[in-house]
Amino acid sequence: MTSSAIARSAPSTMLAPPPSHWPAAQPWALFLDLDGTLCAYRDDPAEVALTPAQRALLRRLQQRLHGALCVLSGRSAADLARIFGDLQIAHVGEHGAAAAAADVLFLAQLARVEAALRTLSTDFPGTWVERKPSSCVLHYRRVPQLAECLAARLPGLDASLDRLRRLDGVCVFEFAARGSDKGSALRAQMQTAPFRGRVAVAVGDDVTDEDAFAAARALGGFGVAVGGRASVQAGFHLADTAAVQRWLQQLAGDSDALD
Ligand SMILES: [Mg+2]
Repeated sequence: MTSSAIARSAPSTMLAPPPSHWPAAQPWALFLDLDGTLCAYRDDPAEVALTPAQRALLRRLQQRLHGALCVLSGRSAADLARIFGDLQIAHVGEHGAAAAAADVLFLAQLARVEAALRTLSTDFPGTWVERKPSSCVLHYRRVPQLAECLAARLPGLDASLDRLRRLDGVCVFEFAARGSDKGSALRAQMQTAPFRGRVAVAVGDDVTDEDAFAAARALGGFGVAVGGRASVQAGFHLADTAAVQRWLQQLAGDSDALD
C-alpha cells in the first residue's frame, strides 16, 4: 500500500506524528491554520489571541525557516491584523478568497445568502452571522446541537448561486467564493520567495484545510491533521493544539522541547 493510499483510508488518529526536523537539503515551507491548530477554540472567536510565548515561538520558527512560514486562516484580514499585531509573519485570510471581493456577481449572490442567514439566525438564538469581505458565515458554536437542523435550512446552492460554495467547518457554515480555497492560497505562496523551492507542509484541523493538504501533497509535501476529525489528505497527525505547540518548539530547535 502506498503512503497516499494509507492517508486516504486511515482515520487521522491512526497516522504517525510528523517528523520533528527537516533534511538540510529539503527545507520546509510551513503553512499553519490558526483556530484549532495554533490556538484553541473559544466560545467567542474574538477572545482568541497569541500568548507572548507563542509569538516568540513563531518568531524563532520564522527565522529557522528563513521566512517560509505562513498562516492560512478563514478569518478576515482585520481579525488577523488584530491577532498578529506587529508580528511580521505572512498570513492569508478568508481561505485565500479576498480577490473575490471585487467580483460584482459574486457579491450580489453573497448578499442574498447573507440575508437568508440573518433570517435563519434570528429564528435560532445562539447563532450569529459574520460577514467578511468575501464570505458570509453562520456560527453555531454556542448551540452545536442545532447543526443538523440549521443545515437543513441553509440556502441551496442552485444555478442562481453559482459563484458560491459552502464550507462546513467546526461549528460554522461558511459561504465563500467557488474556486478559492486554502489550496489555491498555498500554491500562490509557493510560487514566491522565500517559499519557492521548499517542501510544502500544511497543518490544520478543519475540512477547509484538506485543500491545503492536497495542494502540499501535489507539490511533493504533506499535510498534518490536527484533532479527531477524519482526514482524507493528511499524511500525519497531531492530537491537539498543545501537541502542535510542542512540535513547533521542536522544529524551532528549542532544546528543552526535545526530551
Ligand atoms: Mg482551524
